[in-house]
Amino acid sequence: MKLDRVAMRERDATERARSFSEVNLGFTAEMAKLEATRCLECARPKCVEGCPVGVHIDEFVGHVASGDIEAAARVIQRDNLLPAICGRVCPQENQCEGACVLVKKGRPLAIGHLERYVADYIRDEGLRLVAGPTDTTGRRVAIVGSGPSGLACAGDLIQSGHTVTVYEALHEPGGVLVYGIPEFRLPKEIVSAEIAGLEELGVRFEMNAIVGRTHTLTELLAENDAVFIGVGAGLPRFLDIPGENLIGVYSANEFLTRVNLMKAYLATSDTPVLDVRDRRVVVFGGGNTAMDAARTSQRLGAGDVRILYRRTEQEMPARREEVRHAREEGINFDFLVSPTDLFGTDGVLTGLTLQEMELGEPDDSGRRRPHPVAGAIRTLDADLAIVAIGNGANPLLLSTVPELERTRWGTIAVDEATGRTSMPGVFAGGDIVTGGATVILAMGAGRRSAASIEDWLQDPTWETADPEEIAPA
Ligand code: FAD
Ligand code: SF4
Repeated sequence: MKLDRVAMRERDATERARSFSEVNLGFTAEMAKLEATRCLECARPKCVEGCPVGVHIDEFVGHVASGDIEAAARVIQRDNLLPAICGRVCPQENQCEGACVLVKKGRPLAIGHLERYVADYIRDEGLRLVAGPTDTTGRRVAIVGSGPSGLACAGDLIQSGHTVTVYEALHEPGGVLVYGIPEFRLPKEIVSAEIAGLEELGVRFEMNAIVGRTHTLTELLAENDAVFIGVGAGLPRFLDIPGENLIGVYSANEFLTRVNLMKAYLATSDTPVLDVRDRRVVVFGGGNTAMDAARTSQRLGAGDVRILYRRTEQEMPARREEVRHAREEGINFDFLVSPTDLFGTDGVLTGLTLQEMELGEPDDSGRRRPHPVAGAIRTLDADLAIVAIGNGANPLLLSTVPELERTRWGTIAVDEATGRTSMPGVFAGGDIVTGGATVILAMGAGRRSAASIEDWLQDPTWETADPEEIAPA
């Protein structure tokens, strides 16, 4: 009980600041066992309630403590098909670990690290835990989008014996897991191993398939018994200030996709980014995306990287670990500032004007609203600016199906419990329903939809969708 939380091994900050290798190095078997023995084995484990998909944490941790990692993996797999990913990127401090009773002592059980350990052990040992279907049902389901919501939905449906095809617009499956979250937080080989597992179970992936362009939803509905839409929230928001069209201004989406997925850091890349070596980079925003963009710039050799956020550190939505890592790697933070314009020479960015802010009353999000401080304006030199202030719903597919009910935020309107949309046989989940959220919430939504697709396949009599029943997201 008196043991302190076992710290994750990490790559040295100076070395990792110029390397795309994974920062966290995982637990050894001894560390995992030691950490697992810190569990108090609560009669009513609050951590399970804190996990959006209800992983039976108490059970799996007990198996780790007794050294039966395979049994631990079987417990996790019941609720979470992508544990190596969740163990790395879930905001555990707000979920399972936030609910752990040890949080009162300031050192909650390292549930995410343990989950990662178990998942990595199973992969490294080449063990296969999920069996494919023994029988096929002859039913067909199309999944649009290969992010965590689509993958989770596909994983459940394939195990029931249905024919499942995932249609993905990009050339590689994984959604934000591959084009957004950088290699140093989530190695691509981890994502591809999870996807290979789904392929082995029989899930088919059709890449470069843009539903709404190369395929229509009507075609998918004609060829399948049900369709799940998990196209994410990949439409970047902009600051809407003068100078955003200057050369040197990127959305975080574009910047990260070019570097992560299209390998822009290689001289031979067809989709290069501007050379940031020894340049001054500013990043607007305070979420995980801002941290990822800043830390990626640092790894590309930038001279000075600065995160500019209009509130204070306390209000930053980024995971605490990411902020700590960013700081250790030399990223600078300027709080309570908001850009009012970007300026340049001959169409190329050279700097920006910053308005200083102060915090007022809380807004709808519960965070204190920033207000400009009269007359407190300054300028800052910059060669590259990356806008990471959030994303909206991907509009491409939706623009081709006006009959699909949506919310005033442009997301798809669904019945929250079932993922049912206003179109019979069409289900939706993940960021396209909630707006930008988290991997595990997207997975949970994919699994809920998979369960109601099962019901639909048994009894496809849901002919009308009552808009009154559709809960706004
Ligand atoms: P996505 O992952 O966005 O996948 C949607 C897929 O659909 C994409 O592959 C897209 O190409 C495809 N698609 C779109 N339109 C079409 C079409 N018309 N036809 C076919 N395919 C289409 N969450 C965490 O929990 N932890 C983190 O640390 C974290 N870090 C993040 C860092 C970044 C940079 C970003 C951008 C997000 C991060 N998130 C994080 C959020 C998390 O990644 C998302 O909430 C999650 O990926 C949403 O999953 P999804 O399945 O809804 O959509
Ligand atoms: Fe915690 Fe995420 Fe694992 Fe659930 S899936 S136990 S929230 S790390």
